[in-house]
Amino acid sequence: MHQVRSPHAGPHVAITALMHGNEYAGAIVLADLLRLGFAPRQGTLSLIFLNLEAFSRFSPTNPIRSRFMDEDMNRLWGNVHGNLSRPSSEERRVRQLLPYIETVDRLLDLHSMLWPADPLILAGPSQKGIDLAVRTGTPALVIADSGHSAGPRLIDLPHFTRPDSPACACLLEGGQHWSYACLETTRKTVSSFLAISEKDRKATEPHPPQIIAEVTHRVTAQTGLFTFTQSFHGGDIIATRGTLIATDGNDEIRTPYDNCLLVMPNFRTARHHTAVRLARVQSMPT
Ligand SMILES: [Zn+2]
Repeated sequence: MHQVRSPHAGPHVAITALMHGNEYAGAIVLADLLRLGFAPRQGTLSLIFLNLEAFSRFSPTNPIRSRFMDEDMNRLWGNVHGNLSRPSSEERRVRQLLPYIETVDRLLDLHSMLWPADPLILAGPSQKGIDLAVRTGTPALVIADSGHSAGPRLIDLPHFTRPDSPACACLLEGGQHWSYACLETTRKTVSSFLAISEKDRKATEPHPPQIIAEVTHRVTAQTGLFTFTQSFHGGDIIATRGTLIATDGNDEIRTPYDNCLLVMPNFRTARHHTAVRLARVQSMPT
């Protein structure tokens, strides 16, 4: 964890990378900031490499193996349960960082995706998350969602979601793992996020207008036969209600409303795993 302080008072801003040890685009961008000696004009900037232990196992021949050591770190925030005398590697790290994270005013958590999809910002369950994504301005897709039943993500921490706390956080899915496009999107988003703090910032390049959508349904595979009707792309918007998008054994999966946005479809869905999340478009550029 690296901390850079300005002599001028201001917010505590944090950027986190390597929550998942195999998603290293964010780590490259943070390492570049450190190498360039980036310093905020006001307040404190924390650059945090979350799961270095998992990342240290990264191997191009088996890149999925380094996602975590013992369990998914992004299901443990505010919910460190487990065996207290023998915590998992990820629980230990979350406990170590939590008191510090709870001093952060504004946080961006950097990730990437397994399947091809448009980059997006997950704004979590609160309006504050959406506002932060809109102030960041890029990428063009903002998804409000209530997280995973398996456990709270970093952006779901009450510190960031409670209405009486001014702190806010959102999560970038910058693009497909290990792609240059993902690295470029991550760079651009980090630079826009940092620019929020800079009072006298030069006008940053204008971003295309954003689509804001809210997750309404999680489609879970009930059989081992879940199949999409075509090779959808994450971020695709299905115009007409009732369109068949997948079959699951004998069941048909159809879109529940017009302009239904597909969030991160998973093309190798095992039984009881999330196949896709469906989001209702709230606002779309005209
Ligand atoms: Zn991730």
